[in-house]
Amino acid sequence: MNQQETIVALATPSGTGAIGIIRLSGPEAITISNSVFKGKDLTKQPSHTIHFGSIADGELVLDEVLVSIFVGPKSYTRENVVEISCHGSAYIIESIIKLLIKKGARSAKAGEFTLRAFLNGQLDLSQAEAVADLIASNSKASQQVALNQLRGGFSSQLQGLRDQLVQFASLIELELDFAEEDVEFANRDQLKKLIYEINKVIGSLIRSFELGNAIKQGVNTVIAGRPNAGKSTLLNALLNEERAIVSHIPGTTRDTIEEVLNIQGVNFRLIDTAGIREATDAVEQIGVARTMEKISQSALLIYVFDADVISNEELQQDIASLQKPGINMLMVANKIDLLDQTAKLTHLQAQGLPNFITVSAKQKLHIDELKSKIYTTAIKDQLTGDETMVTNIRHLEALQKTEESLIRVLNGIDSVTSDFLSMDIKQALYYLGEITGVVTTDDLLEHIFSKFCIGK
Ligand code: GDP
Repeated sequence: MNQQETIVALATPSGTGAIGIIRLSGPEAITISNSVFKGKDLTKQPSHTIHFGSIADGELVLDEVLVSIFVGPKSYTRENVVEISCHGSAYIIESIIKLLIKKGARSAKAGEFTLRAFLNGQLDLSQAEAVADLIASNSKASQQVALNQLRGGFSSQLQGLRDQLVQFASLIELELDFAEEDVEFANRDQLKKLIYEINKVIGSLIRSFELGNAIKQGVNTVIAGRPNAGKSTLLNALLNEERAIVSHIPGTTRDTIEEVLNIQGVNFRLIDTAGIREATDAVEQIGVARTMEKISQSALLIYVFDADVISNEELQQDIASLQKPGINMLMVANKIDLLDQTAKLTHLQAQGLPNFITVSAKQKLHIDELKSKIYTTAIKDQLTGDETMVTNIRHLEALQKTEESLIRVLNGIDSVTSDFLSMDIKQALYYLGEITGVVTTDDLLEHIFSKFCIGK
């Protein structure tokens, strides 16, 4: 990675827009821009100023532009950064970028601006990843989780604990130098205490992944139940529009339909499925198999039944076949509009079920209550917006490996010699460092930043 080079890329989406922003970063960002700019001398302008002028290739004016100047280290990448706001024509943008390349810049690779910000110490690795998450966020909750991580989130917390562990590691290293004298510089009880503390933090971060990931990706929610229970009607009521096909013929929802419903800032990916029953024809059989598969991959199952016709036996049968460990289940008794007021559901044992709600999908009764129930079933506690959550599988793996190495340290602390202890602690330090980027390899960086878009 050559940071002596000045890089250039379009920072706004490609295509036609009102304006396009071309960004340059590197030692020559200002001089290269100045060489094609007709207006003030950009090299003499203070940082954080904007200048009007035009971009010209020799005598040929390409566009009138605004140029923003950020003199390093007070910039996103900590290098000299220039942002050229031009008119958003694909032709103009391409011509200006080509011109800048002719003058000495080179095309930026995916994520290279953020990579430079990381390499220059502006962001740690988990913060750099949060930039990508922030750009990809599509709901209030996912935006808040990413923003929280960008602001330091758990990486500063981990960094403090890692520093303490580094001290122990160096004390134990010192013991190795005095191996013959059998001294202990590192207090074993204090080390144990620290490891318990670290594991507590790590444990809760590991546990946060399930929810964190659900918030980032959207909570996979399956709507299942017997044919004609009213699943499609319920989906429509929830989405407030006519999307799924509603019909009287059992089993019309042949394939699965996926829609996104936002409840209190969290996205739920609702999957309506073909009816669960003994499938007769082949097409439907596939649908039913897919239902079971979707259920096993989901975080939340909304089981809908027709409260008017279902028997206790059928209800128990369905629950028994659908309930799976790790999946939150919400029971929805539908068509309560058909039930006589006084006899409402008394024939069913359903009322004794946990997490149970009555609705009428067709008459849109209790739909808001159902939404709240969906939220609390999946999210449990209200999100406050500043919880630290792990949403990244790379972090999860590093945390799990850290935990494993720390457990090895604990297991050996009273029995193994300093050199083995030292090795296990170093392992833990390595994995912890991987999260914030204290420890990196080129492969890892390549892997992370290649997923960014060009221009970020
Ligand atoms: P699915 O097979 O589970 O998707 O069921 P549908 O949504 O296609 O509904 C089957 C039939 O039940 C349709 O005729 C719906 O109009 C009707 N239905 C659905 N929900 C209700 C409800 O709450 N009350 C009444 N009375 N009918 C309903």
